[in-house]
Amino acid sequence: MINRLAETPKVMLIVMQMDARPEHVEAVVRKIEAHGLKAHPIAGAQRTAIGITGNIGMVERGLFESLPGVLEVIRVSHPYKLVSREFKPPDTVVTVKTPAGGGIRIGGPDLVVIAGPCSVESHEQTLRIARRVQAAGAHMLRGGAFKPRTSPYSFQGLGCEGLEILARVREETGLPVVTEATDIDVLDAVTEYADVVQVGARNMQNYTLLKRVGRCGRPVLLKRGMTATVTELLLSAEYILDQGNPDVILCERGIRTFADHSRNTLDLSAVPAVKRISHLPIIADPSHAAGERAKVFPLSRAAVAVGADGVMVEVHDRPEEALSDGNQALLPDEFDHLMEAMRQLAPVVDRSIPVPVGT
Ligand code: PEP
Ligand code: MN
Repeated sequence: MINRLAETPKVMLIVMQMDARPEHVEAVVRKIEAHGLKAHPIAGAQRTAIGITGNIGMVERGLFESLPGVLEVIRVSHPYKLVSREFKPPDTVVTVKTPAGGGIRIGGPDLVVIAGPCSVESHEQTLRIARRVQAAGAHMLRGGAFKPRTSPYSFQGLGCEGLEILARVREETGLPVVTEATDIDVLDAVTEYADVVQVGARNMQNYTLLKRVGRCGRPVLLKRGMTATVTELLLSAEYILDQGNPDVILCERGIRTFADHSRNTLDLSAVPAVKRISHLPIIADPSHAAGERAKVFPLSRAAVAVGADGVMVEVHDRPEEALSDGNQALLPDEFDHLMEAMRQLAPVVDRSIPVPVGT
């Protein structure tokens, strides 16, 4: 029988930043040797990598990560490739086309704010909320037509009728829309109507769906599974890129922890972790993380402060009547307040908030 563990190469790689100086490389080599290990500097065209061999089971990555000039410490058995910064150092900027022929850029200097109801409930409700979030400065409209619900007895979404409503509201407002494809059966319909196809947390490891969205020709918003590691999230993104679709926006939406004060725990540390390893943009969804409206404002600010490329939040003007997730929906006035805070925070983190389309 093959011992798969034995196949894993016992090598680590320290990837130096592009502007690392020779003395930085030298200092890393000395530190490796001081731990009784062997260093193998490999000078590349753009940057130096230093392989470590020896009894690396004993080596803490943190020993090297804080040294000057170090970009990342990775295991050579590193499972992903296309999504990694090693492979593509510059940030990916995903452009979402607007109906007026412009583009919303996600992953560059601009921050994106995506807002709207959890579910599309009617044309009237969607348009009302869309106009309100647009007036406040949102760049895109969210709204589920196909809803992945925990209970089979809960509202499952309006389906294709919901997609048609979203398309109408896009025409009426000029806001691009993001909506979820819950399985491969509905993907073609969702692709026809959506500007960004969402893969929800529950489907992050639905590999058949991931491969299909990799060929759908639209940008994809890939949400982190509630029990998925950052590595697993990146591997799921790798499936999409591997099929030829480079336009993936990652989304941290909270993970399951022992904490019981919050529906999920927004893993803010995932944002800088992803930024370090991957060139893909990452936004945060504090609504599904918190499960409660009062926490959405502070978590949104925190997400942008740690480097998220934007936020996606749920907004409803009559949350007590909402067919899903009313408790976590911001009221329109609260959304105004959030946009104001985003405008104040953006320059502090070297970002800007573009003026939304159609306003
Ligand atoms: C959503 O954004 O509508 C949603 C269902 O979120 P998640 O997949 O993160 O639970
Ligand atoms: Mn929701």
